[in-house]
Order: sequence, then C-alpha cells, then structure tokens
Amino acid sequence: LDSQFEFSRRKLTTDVNELWNYIRTVETTKAETKNFVKELKNSLLFDLVIIAKRDERSRYKQLELLSNYIQNRIHELQNPKDCKTTQKIVCTLNKGCGFGCQIHHLSYCMVIALATKRTLILNSQNWRYANKIHGSSTAKSSSSSLWELAFQPLSHTCLNDSGSPRTNWLNSIDHNHHHPRNVQVIDLPILDSLRPRPPYLPLTIPQEISNELTTLHGSPFVWFIGQILRYIMKPSDEIEQFLSMKRSKFNFKHPIVGVHVRRTDKINTEASFHSLSEYMIHVEDYFDRLELFKKRQNDETTTKRIVYLATDDSSVWRKEVPKFEKKGYKFIGDSEISDTASVNRRYSFDSLKNIILDVWMLSETDYIVCTFSSQVCRLAYELMQSKNPAIDRSNNFFSLDDIYYFGGQNSHNQIAILDHEAATKDSEINIKRGDIIGIAGNHWNGYSKGINRVTQQDGLYPGFKTKEKIETASFELFKDFKD
Ligand code: GDP
Repeated sequence: LDSQFEFSRRKLTTDVNELWNYIRTVETTKAETKNFVKELKNSLLFDLVIIAKRDERSRYKQLELLSNYIQNRIHELQNPKDCKTTQKIVCTLNKGCGFGCQIHHLSYCMVIALATKRTLILNSQNWRYANKIHGSSTAKSSSSSLWELAFQPLSHTCLNDSGSPRTNWLNSIDHNHHHPRNVQVIDLPILDSLRPRPPYLPLTIPQEISNELTTLHGSPFVWFIGQILRYIMKPSDEIEQFLSMKRSKFNFKHPIVGVHVRRTDKINTEASFHSLSEYMIHVEDYFDRLELFKKRQNDETTTKRIVYLATDDSSVWRKEVPKFEKKGYKFIGDSEISDTASVNRRYSFDSLKNIILDVWMLSETDYIVCTFSSQVCRLAYELMQSKNPAIDRSNNFFSLDDIYYFGGQNSHNQIAILDHEAATKDSEINIKRGDIIGIAGNHWNGYSKGINRVTQQDGLYPGFKTKEKIETASFELFKDFKD
C-alpha cells in the first residue's frame, strides 16, 4: 500500500465533506444551490467508495493482522506466568464521573501498562456504577468482582495487586525520568493529575506500529483506543445475554444510524442544548446518500430509515420523536428510560446495563450523529472502530459540537499544508505551510479554530489547508513488532 495515495484518498473524502459544510452553512447560499451541491457531494462520495475498493482487501488484511497482533500482545501481558513477580500498574476505578469517563480512565491506565510493559491490575472495589448491586456494601469481597458482573476479568492468572516495592507514579520515577524495574507495583492517579507526563499519553500512538497504522486508518489514535476497548470491554455472560435479548427485541437491522442526545446535567455546564431536528439533518443526509449510492448501482428500492436513539432525556422520545416518525423514520431504543439526571438513580447496576446497552448499540450502527463533548458518544465511536477492526470507520460520524478528543490529552496539533491569508481580520488567522497549529475545534462550516504556534495568533482557518500531526512514542510491549 502506498501511504501517500491512502492519505490523499482519505483527504478527498474529508475535503468533500468540508466543502459541503462550507456551502451548506453560508447564509447567502440559495436553496437550489444547496440541493445541487448536496447531490454532487453524494455522487462524489460514491465514486470515492468505488476508488476505495481498489486496495480494500489488502487494507482489510493488514488491519486485521495488526489488530490480532495487539490483542495477542495484550493477552500475554495480562496473563503472566507468575503473578507474584510480575511488574504491575494498578488502576483504581474511583473517578467521580459517568460510565464513559470511567472507561476512558481505565483505557488510559491500559495505555500506560502497554507503554511500560506492566500487567494492569484493576481495582474496582469502589466502582460507583455498580455500587448498589446487592443492596449496599456486599459484593466487595474481591477487588475485581464488581467489574466482573459487567465485563470479563482483565486476566485469568493475575488479578491481585500485591507486590513490593510498591509506590505511586511520581515517587517511582528515577532521576532519568524512568520507572526503574525494581519497583514492582505502581499506583496510577487519574490522567489529569499524572506528573510527570510521559510522551506516550493520548493522542500519541505507538511508534512501532505507526507507519502501518497511519497508512491504514484515518484516525490512528481512535483505532488504537478501540483496540484497548476491545480487550477491556468483553461483556460478561449476563451482559451478553442482555444485549442479545435487546438486539432482537429492538429488531436491530442495518442500515441504521445511531443518534445520541445528551442533555440533563450536561446542558449549560459542558454542552449546549440541541433539538432532535439538528441531529436529524445529518441522519437525513446519511440516508439520502445511501439512496443515491443505490441509484448509481441501478438499485431503485428505497431504504427503510432506522434510527437507534440513545438519550438521557426521556422527553426526546415523547416530544420530538413523533414528528420524525410521521416523516417515515423508525426509531428503536429504550424509550422507557427514566431521566438519568438524578445522580442517585444513575449509579445502579440497572443503569449500568442501560448505558452499556446504549454505547454498544451506537457502536454497532453504520453512522453516529451526536455531540463529541459527551464521553458516551466518543466511547461509542471508538468502539465502532473495534467492532470490525479491519474497516476504517473514522468518517462515520457527525458531531454537533466538538471534534474527537481524549479527556486530559496532550495538545492536539495540525500541520499547515497550504498558506492562508486571513480574509476577515477579526476572526481568521494567517498560516504558512509547515506551521504547527494547535486545533481547538471544527466549526463544521469549512473552518477550524485553533492557535498558530508560530505566530501565537488564535482564530479560524480553513480545515482543508491542514493535516493531522500524528504523535508517536515507543511502547515497550510492541518492541518486537515487524512490519
Ligand atoms: P458525559 O458526561 O456525557 O461526557 O459522559 P459520562 O459517561 O462520563 O457521563 C454521562 C452519564 O449519563 C452516563 O454514564 C450515563 O449514566 C448517563 N447517560 C448519558 N447519556 C446516556 C444515554 O444515552 N443512555 C443512558 N442509558 N445513559 C446516559
């Protein structure tokens, strides 16, 4: 595979979407122009799908091999022959936040474990999500039992955190900023308070697999985290049964778009309110695109428009869904949810099952429309890449607000590939080819917002004039990787 070709092929898809975002949001664009460009855009995307088929098989095979390699390496790391002597990283599930946030905390712990080649030991004793399983304080006998009600254990040979010497991350570091091998057990804090910060934190990918991965996938870091989630989030038998029961009850069928509407406690604290109609614009666009794809293949049949709806606000089902049902959309999902705004109600085993269900179903859809400010949706998007790790689904989403990020990540940078001269002084910035730009967000109107790290100018610039700056760092676990 030619990495330059793969880059350009993917960039074409992204830029067709950027062009469309630009046209559809310019206020003076006439409706007929919009309709014209929308159809043209969908037709272009169809040809891009055909072009992508050329090397599909070898991409597929290589990504699958890469995924198998990573899964095997993690499996070996997590199942040491001698748990008494193996070096350990201890991750405590005690972060005072929701499910997505906690799973992300665990994923970050796994990143550290892989980079330092230490077995990850999970302490889920105080996992708030499952704290009311059998009344109040039972089920606390073994350190991982709470976790194991929902997911399979992270190891079959090594679940206990004992060992010595044992110390925390900061104190275990020597003057060379290394973790000496003679410290057997290291306790990790949450990512936000990790000091010192090693180079391999998100959005960094393992340098050992970076050539291969950046050629094969549009969002290498998201794919990599997807691999970690694939290992971590193997449902327990109970959850597995629950998921299949729901899947058949919902009559979950493709093609299907996933919509996540996050409201309640998030509104006006970390995100803005968006009506269901704002999400449905992008759902409609997705299905219109599918219909055009079919026509280009001489298939005249219409597609049933199915939406999986996940939300923490039950009023979406009652007040907003009916309007779109009248337009022919079929909504599936748990409409019986009680509002999860109340924190007491949120942290029970039943609500744990329900959030797993929603994340799972969203990740199995073909396209997700949501707000990336929510960890629920970012988690579903990451998992989506791992459900079939051989397929690049990095473009299968629309976020109404943020671009993808990992909470507590190192700065996210881009590189300018074209010069830009600010057209309007107050909001746009100048960029020169080669400049590093710290990206803060995409306004989904053709422009991104960020800071030019060369000039320190802060403002808008056309997204198509930049490319991602992929950060890499060595991961000890992958040292033996051969292309
Ligand atoms: P964030 O706050 O949206 O970034 O994500 P978190 O996962 O950290 O916390 C949100 C919590 O709200 C979740 O863990 C759930 O308990 C609840 N929640 C939010 N959206 C949904 C949803 O679509 N379905 C269900 N069942 N619960 C949700």
